[in-house]
This record gives sequence, C-alpha cells and structure tokens, in this order.
Amino acid sequence: MTLGLSTLVRKALRVRGLVQGVGFRPFVYRLARETGLAGFVRNDASGVWIELEGDSAAVTEFPGRLRSLAPAAVRIESIETFDLPASYDRGFSVGESLNATETSARIPPDLATCGACLTELFDPANRRYRYPFINCTDCGPRFTIVRELPYDRQRTTMDSFKLCRLCRDEYENPDDRRFHAEPNACKDCGPQLSLEGARGEEALAGAIAALRAGKIVAVKGIGGFHLAVDAANGEAVERLRRRKHRPHKPFALMVRDVEFAATIAAVDDVSRATLLSAPRPIVLLPLSVVRYPLSGGGDSRSTENERRTTFHTIAPALDEIGLMLPYSPLHHLLLEEIPILVMTSGNRADEPIAADNDEAIDHLSDIADVFLLHDRDIHSRADDSVIRIVDGKTQPVRRSRGYVPEPMDLGIAVAPILAVGAELKKTVCITRGREAFLSQHIGESVTFMEEAIAGLSRLLSVKPVVVAHDLHPDYASTRWALASGLPRIAVQHHHAHIASCLAEHQTTGPVIGVAFDGTGCGPAGELWGGEILLADALSSQRLFHLQPIALIGGEAAIRQPWRLALAALDDAGIADEGAGLLPQIDRSRRDTALAMLRKKLFTPESTSAGRWFDAVAALCSVRDEISYEAQAAIELEALLPEEDGQPYRFALELSRIDLRPTIRDIASDLRAGVTTPVIAARFHETMARAITAAVTQARLTTGLSVVALSGGCFQNRRLSRRTSALLKAEGFEVLQHRLVPPNDGGIALGQAFVAAHRLKAYDDQGGSDVSRYPR
Ligand code: ZN
Ligand code: ZN
Ligand code: FE
Repeated sequence: MTLGLSTLVRKALRVRGLVQGVGFRPFVYRLARETGLAGFVRNDASGVWIELEGDSAAVTEFPGRLRSLAPAAVRIESIETFDLPASYDRGFSVGESLNATETSARIPPDLATCGACLTELFDPANRRYRYPFINCTDCGPRFTIVRELPYDRQRTTMDSFKLCRLCRDEYENPDDRRFHAEPNACKDCGPQLSLEGARGEEALAGAIAALRAGKIVAVKGIGGFHLAVDAANGEAVERLRRRKHRPHKPFALMVRDVEFAATIAAVDDVSRATLLSAPRPIVLLPLSVVRYPLSGGGDSRSTENERRTTFHTIAPALDEIGLMLPYSPLHHLLLEEIPILVMTSGNRADEPIAADNDEAIDHLSDIADVFLLHDRDIHSRADDSVIRIVDGKTQPVRRSRGYVPEPMDLGIAVAPILAVGAELKKTVCITRGREAFLSQHIGESVTFMEEAIAGLSRLLSVKPVVVAHDLHPDYASTRWALASGLPRIAVQHHHAHIASCLAEHQTTGPVIGVAFDGTGCGPAGELWGGEILLADALSSQRLFHLQPIALIGGEAAIRQPWRLALAALDDAGIADEGAGLLPQIDRSRRDTALAMLRKKLFTPESTSAGRWFDAVAALCSVRDEISYEAQAAIELEALLPEEDGQPYRFALELSRIDLRPTIRDIASDLRAGVTTPVIAARFHETMARAITAAVTQARLTTGLSVVALSGGCFQNRRLSRRTSALLKAEGFEVLQHRLVPPNDGGIALGQAFVAAHRLKAYDDQGGSDVSRYPR
C-alpha cells in the first residue's frame, strides 16, 4: 500500500452506443492525453475498446468524463470496465479497427455539413475552397456510403479514392478535426462533379446556368438524385409537373438559409431547430405571405397575388409548404447562386429514388434536361425525411435520410425479426437484441424493399429468423413474406399501428388504441380504417368502429371521392333530395352510381376514417377526383379556419360511431349556404368529439385510461390537436407519435414489436426452437 502516492493501474473500457463515425476516438485520444494516461483506443464491431494505464484516480474517473464531455453526435449507451495487468505503455495511441465476430456497433446517420467545413468551403485561402465534397468527423455522408461494419474507409464507397498526402496526414493525425473522417477527400484525391463533358467547377457552372435558364437539372446528392428547378420560375415548375406526371402533389423546396425560409413560411423556434438539425429534414410549415420577389430577376412590381400564385404551383391548394436547408456542400454551392430551388426526389412515379449514375440517366432522361453527376457511389439510397410540427412538437411524416439507421429500444431482446411493413409508404424493420432498426422510406417498390432488407441485414450482421407481415393477402410485402420460407407472424394492420406507438413510448399496454387511416385489412379480410381497439403488445380487440361507408366502384371511389359523398348521402337517406347536394356531378353519372350502390355491385364497405374525410371534402366540392393519396382530405384540412367549429351530431351505438346524423347536418349547412371552411371546422371537431365519446365509453368497460393515437389520419394537425386536447380534458393519458410516422411508414416497427412479444411469450411457455413457432 503506497500511502499518499498514486498507484499505477490498467483498465479496459468497452463502450457501446453510437460511437463510430462521430469523432469519438479523437475525443478519447485528447482526453487521455490531457489526463496523462497511456494506452490506446480502437473501433471494433461492438463499438469502441479503450485501454487506459496510469494514475488510479484518473483511470477511475475516466468513464464519467467520457460521458459528460463527449461530442454532441455521440450516444454512449454503456461502459463496462475490466481490470488488466499494467503493461507499462508510454503514450496514448489510436489503433486500427478490429474485425471482431460480435457485431453491435452502430452506423451513424448522414450528417449535414458542419459550420467549420462551411467556413472552409467559402474561404478562398483554404485548399478545399469550393470543393463540393468537403467533410470532417462531425459531418458528411455515413449510412448512405457504408457497406458493412466496422465503419472504416475500406468498407465504404470511398474505398476507390486513394488519400493524397495532405489528406492522409489529416486522416492519421489525432489532433486534426479530420482524424479518421472516413469520407475525407480534397480536389486532388476525392470525388469530382461532372456534367456532360465538363468536370469540377465547370460542371457546377453548367448546372447553375441550366437552372437559371429554367432547365430541369438532375442533381446527385447524398441519398440519391433530386430533380431541381429554379422555384421562382413558374414555367419551369409547371414543366417539371408535366414531365413527372404529377399535377398537384406538392414539391419540396430547398432554401438558402433560415432567414430566407422565414420569408416564405411561418418559422417558430421548434421549426427553426428542426430545419437546422443534423438530419436536415423537409419541414412542413405554414405558408405565409410571400415577400420574396419572384421571376424576372426580382421585378418589384410583381404583386403579392402573383407571388402567391407561383407558390400555389409548388403546393397547390395547400396552406403549408415543405422547406429544407442545404445539407451537402454541393447544395450550399448551388444555393449560393440561386436562393430557392424545387428539390424533388429523382424518381418516376412509384419508382425508388435513383441513386446510381447510369440508373439516373436511364430512368430520368425523359424528365431532366441535364445531369449534375459525381463519382462517389451511393451504397444505400435514402429519400429526404419529412417532419410536421403537430401541437408544437415534431412528428415524422417520412423517416429516412438523417434518421436511419438510428435504432429504437424494443424493451426485450429476442431472436432477429424482419418486419416487412404494409404496401404504400413502406419501410421494413430488423431487430438485433433489444434494438429495432427501421429502414429508410421504401415506398411501393419490391426491388428497393429487397435491397433495404439485404443492406440492413449486412450492416447489422443479422440474419432474421422470423418474418412479421400484414394480414392483407395481396400486399407485395405479404407475398414476399410467404415466399421467404421463414416462420411467419401476421399482425393485423391497425394493431400494428397502435403497437408502433406503444414501442415508441416503451410500454406494452394495454391501452385504448385509436387507429384512423385510409385502409387496412381486418382479421376476416374486411376493409378497416376507423377503429378503436383494446390493444397490447400481443393482440388487439375491436371495441368501436366508424359507420361503414360504401365504396361505389371499389378502388374508383378512392380516386373519385364524390362517389363516397353520394354513398354517405344515400346511407343518411338524403341522396334523392338532390337540390344543392353534389351539384357538380352530372345526373347520369350520379344515377349510374346510385344504381350500383343499391344493387351492391362492385361496392364494398369500409369503416375507414380517411374515406369519411374524402366524402366530406367532395360534399363541400373541395375535390371530386384526386391525383395523389389523401389529396381531398389534405385539401379540406388546408381550408380550416383558425377557430374550432361547433360539432355536428353523431350517435354512439353499441360498437359503432354513427355518422349519419353528421351527414344530415352537413347537408343542411350546405343548403343554408354555410361556407366550406366552417363546415370543415365543424366536421373535424365532430370527429374529435366522436373519438372522445367512444374512448370514454371504452374506459367504462376496460378500466383503461391510456390512449394511443395512430394511423395516417393523425397527420392531420387539427384532428390530432383536438382529439388529444379533448381526451386529456377527460383525464386520459395520450400517446402520440414523435419518432416514427403515424402513417404506414411506422407499421413495420409495430409488427416487429408485436412479433418480439409473441416470440417471447412462446419462449416463456417453453418453446425454444423458433423455427417451430406456430404459423
Ligand atoms: Zn465538417
Ligand atoms: Zn486529398
Ligand atoms: Fe394504415
């Protein structure tokens, strides 16, 4: 025992969490040197391994200092320590990565260009002045360029670029801010831009000239291609709409900075922070009076009305607009010249975003006039994420680039599960231990789904042993699951919605679940979508549902909501009263549809809440025919005035929310000449009150006072805000989505959560062989 003297000790630290690709090793290196400790730090497939040797107090305090001083992007989940014999090291070093067998390390999501790199980008004295691929340990592509773990340059698409001497010095120097920045590069050794025959600065100039001339430019970015046009050029925007066969669906805009965003939309503290966050998502913001001079190089005479008109070609009939800030150095260089660009995903309708140069030229040549390419390959494609602010909090509409592959905690560790989601807006989910990794946005493509499954499995070194899927027999994802040969766990669509909300809030329930969406398959093949369930992590049971609405002509009724309006009128017994109701639909179409309805020809029924919103939108003549999903309901929401409306009547039956009185009330409002915004407000209020009444009734029978709100309808801000306010006023605890979308983009997480709990229940009953899980 050496009283008063320090003792020499050596300890190993196993650090888990998001600790690779985020500047963690240089941070450990600096901290160790400051404290005078010897040893080393290195990445391996489980995270980071540190060995420390020196003064016992300094070694003991080290884990605490790691936690409290770590850089912002680092997420330490656990630090285990092990005693080792001293080996009398001198100095502290950063070791090479090890290829270990156990893999639990994390890949960070792609990170927007940091402030330090931005300063260098626009500094004429810097050697990376105007270099479109500048990055450092705090920023740059990650998920989209990594093939597998551990995260090292040779396992990314940067492996084909050999570091020049200067870049290598930075890469190898622990004191440099580019120490082990895997995509580190410069003009001399890194990726280059190209446009037709031109390279580098000349290619960039060519793209800018094309944009200025109103051309459509395909721009290769981080997760794939964008189709870009000058947003101030209305003609160019219209041409993009025509070529993309997208008459109304809103386009997202990229604007130079937050100050510029504030000239177009109402930007508050929450939206500002979200716009500026490292994932740099598209943020849906209320469109405000536009002060930006549009077209013709800033003609000051252009009136406010003309300006609004131009923005309405970007987001027709909507009161909100999707804005994002530049997130790659190339974006900053482009936006420096043109402050506002339409930046829409580079794909043809229903196809995945193009990521490969050849693929882009192949698929987009009938849309884009020119291609601004580069030679850094995109390994995993990922669309921009989309966030909406609901009730002053962020809620994902599309969770993709910048968020993937950050895992969520399942709460229990089980065998690896693959969940394949639903149909539209699809994502998949793979679990590893307690972690659930939701994939990037996939959409409808089966090829992309298979790519995402393969990519995520490889990245996580996981081979799923069970597949969870929807009940719908015709979903491509269900068919894929059936053909996979893996043991299957089918999860009902609306149960999966509620389960995704439970998973996010780390509770297994039971809760009263309100699942309101466009459509989903019920347990016996019914068309569901306005469901109030008793749900937990294992199963669900229907307590209430909306009045069924007839889909005259089946799918046709989804495309032509006037058919739904007619069916609702007929159900309410007032379809024949004619005068003033649906005057826009001519007599013969109306009669044919009514005949079909009454003979029940091609007329399935659905309890879908989305269809009720469509029906009311058509009744108000907002939209008779749609060109994108949920368009009528979205445009109805856009007409809402500030004030909440007076509710219409509805009736609560044993298990049914009867909306026929509501339709009769709307009809008399229409006849009385009440304006559409007022009717819209009254109908939204009615839905919120109807849900609250049913949930309050459900509390009597179940004794539960926690409610989970999920399904695409809860993207509707008014419905979300009013429903949660009314429920809270009744004393309920309300769970809403903050991490995954309420729409079908979150379904895969819910499926994985239910599957995990069913597997665990099976295990607990003594089942040990997963392959024999009952199908
Ligand atoms: Zn940086
Ligand atoms: Zn270089
Ligand atoms: Fe759904």
